[in-house]
Amino acid sequence: MIYLDNAATTRIDDEVLAAMLPFMQESYGNPQSQHSAGRVSANAVIAARDKTAHIMGCNPEEVYFLSGGTEAGNTALKGVCAANGKGHLVISAIEHPTLIESAEDMRKFGFEITYVNPDKRGIVGVQSVKDAVREDTIFCAVMAANNEVGTIQPVEEIGDFCRERGIFYYCDCVQTAGVLPMPTKHCDCLGISAHKFYGPKGCGAIYLKRGSKISRLISGGMQERGFRGGTLNAAAVVGLAAALEKAEKNRAENNKKIAALRDGFVARALAEIDGTHLNGDGKLRVPSNANISFDGCDGENLLFLLDLKGIAVSTGSACSAGAVTPSRVLTAMGLDERRVKSAVRFTFGKYNSENEIDFVINALKEAVEKIRAVRS
Ligand code: PLP
Repeated sequence: MIYLDNAATTRIDDEVLAAMLPFMQESYGNPQSQHSAGRVSANAVIAARDKTAHIMGCNPEEVYFLSGGTEAGNTALKGVCAANGKGHLVISAIEHPTLIESAEDMRKFGFEITYVNPDKRGIVGVQSVKDAVREDTIFCAVMAANNEVGTIQPVEEIGDFCRERGIFYYCDCVQTAGVLPMPTKHCDCLGISAHKFYGPKGCGAIYLKRGSKISRLISGGMQERGFRGGTLNAAAVVGLAAALEKAEKNRAENNKKIAALRDGFVARALAEIDGTHLNGDGKLRVPSNANISFDGCDGENLLFLLDLKGIAVSTGSACSAGAVTPSRVLTAMGLDERRVKSAVRFTFGKYNSENEIDFVINALKEAVEKIRAVRS
């Protein structure tokens, strides 16, 4: 398989898996237990928390482990709503569904929402956020980089503005952890997810600024200092910290390699296939992402034809109850319907190699020709 869907998830790194295994096989104690088996797990969690905090640039007490990016967004948004009781939310229109759906859940309880559209390049302007804010705004979410087009957002400036106005600012860093520096000093809360940086699925972490006005989402035992109930998956937490540490250590090298692969691919796709368009800003984007529309094609059809050749890519459309809804992100960017429907996302990772590109370009050419021939 040629895997070009690294924004969806990544293959676990061998060293990360090796670091995790002892905590599933020999040292499987519950980190909450008082016996020595429990203490071994608890100590591993302490070390993982220290590492994560060091990379995030915060205190270990400001790190909370949870199940991933979805829980991180729900925790921040719903936790702030619960603590305030009422108010207005400012959410970028290109957020992951975790923020959009959480906000819509809160609408049912009387919270009001303003969605801020990006520009045509897929970037949310600082001024648009400022214009959306009201006297009663309690929460703002603008992600560090978008998952569909990879565009990098001006989160430091937005965060500083929110701080001046006393608005809780959540930054979804799921697509940028291990790729870009974390904007910890500019936000009240940020979320990361281990499976996006060669760690295990089902494990994430948030930085939550000490003293934040927020209620917990998951009640239960006293895990995570009483903020998030549920037995910690010590192995996954160890994996998250190991993966984050490795990603940070090799950040420059990985980014350079991945950007070179992506740039080579984009240059060839645009030059060798007629009627192709790169979606999202050409420069202000994470190194892994290429989102391309193919005139006269349907993204879903392209995905299936590439899949038949063993190439994994994705489209931004959502499939529910058999119906395909066009990408919300590309639509919010103001792209016309045909361009939205013909978009395919290719996301590169550290396990991809130069010699895969030729095969993918040839397969793409063939697939595009086939679809266009049927349509004409
Ligand atoms: N936020 C962004 C930007 C994402 O890309 C994703 C996953 O695709 C999530 C949140 C959800 O993360 P998880 O899969 O860990 O729940």
